[in-house]
Amino acid sequence: MSGGPAGTTWAETYRFTASTLHRPSSMGELRGVITSGTRVRALGTRHSFTDLADSAELVSLERLIIEPVLDADRREVRVSAAMSYGALAAWLEHRGWALQNLASLPHISIGGAVMTATHGSGLANGSLSAAVRALELVTGDGQILRIDDTDPRLAGVVVSLGAVGVVTRLSLAIVPSYRLRQQTFAVARWADLVHDVPALMSSAYSVSIFTDWLDRHELLIKSREGDADAADHVGSALTDLPDTENVTPRRGVWGPWSERLAPAVKVVKHSGQVP
Ligand SMILES: Cc1cc2nc3c(=O)[nH]c(=O)nc-3n(C[C@H](O)[C@H](O)[C@H](O)COP(=O)(O)OP(=O)(O)OC[C@H]3O[C@@H](n4cnc5c(N)ncnc54)[C@H](O)[C@@H]3O)c2cc1C
Repeated sequence: MSGGPAGTTWAETYRFTASTLHRPSSMGELRGVITSGTRVRALGTRHSFTDLADSAELVSLERLIIEPVLDADRREVRVSAAMSYGALAAWLEHRGWALQNLASLPHISIGGAVMTATHGSGLANGSLSAAVRALELVTGDGQILRIDDTDPRLAGVVVSLGAVGVVTRLSLAIVPSYRLRQQTFAVARWADLVHDVPALMSSAYSVSIFTDWLDRHELLIKSREGDADAADHVGSALTDLPDTENVTPRRGVWGPWSERLAPAVKVVKHSGQVP
């Protein structure tokens, strides 16, 4: 398959056909790219696996990153769509604040993750889009539109896969910083996992099931310090897990949310390339 200058998705599952990849460094430049192009779509950190982000022309906001702005009274932070969750998590933690949820990878762009309803886990924690209180986007005719949660259009735009315009900034709900620990439990029988799924999934801040569908089943439990978790979890805690550089600590040691909530630190591809 022939391809354009935008290369491939991160997982190399799709080669972009766009003729141009724009990298504007100002809002004026971005509006010019959009109004002079035929079909222009935003490209985030390329972690979708399909042709979803492809178009005649692509625009990356990686040169449009600005410092986040914290509004402690409103409990929200205003960020650039191109910022990564990992960078925002460290920035917030340093100031005593946190996000309620993160996905498995810390380096995906906030704009791309929100536009595709990227999720973490935890029954009460919502997807990453659920934290959006307002967003600013540049529409196809170059207008800058700011939509907040008093505007009924927000619900239609927040998970619009980049089809409504290029999102430049978002305001996200924040909570006071908290501490977490991760524990992994080996579960001998699948039946033990599924006999009361609602109770299991609500037994801690975040509960994830990993299985090979045969005879190996694991629970990854994230507990928040101060929360009353279910006293017993099915299975036996694995205490001899190696701490590798690719995953966040999961031997039950308490630490800041920013170093525990995303299970992965980075994912190294077979080529040795880091995202
Ligand atoms: C190893 C790996 C692990 C993953 N883990 C998870 C996970 O735990 N949970 C989960 O739910 N998903 C997961 N995903 C999927 C990933 O989170 C989504 O594909 C997400 O969209 C990635 O964001 P991105 O910035 O890379 O988006 P891209 O792939 O670059 O773009 C996705 C879509 O968002 C649009 N978009 C991007 N930026 C903007 C913008 N500024 N304005 C408007 N539209 C925009 C694009 O046009 C496109 O339609 C994983 C993917 C990989 C490869």
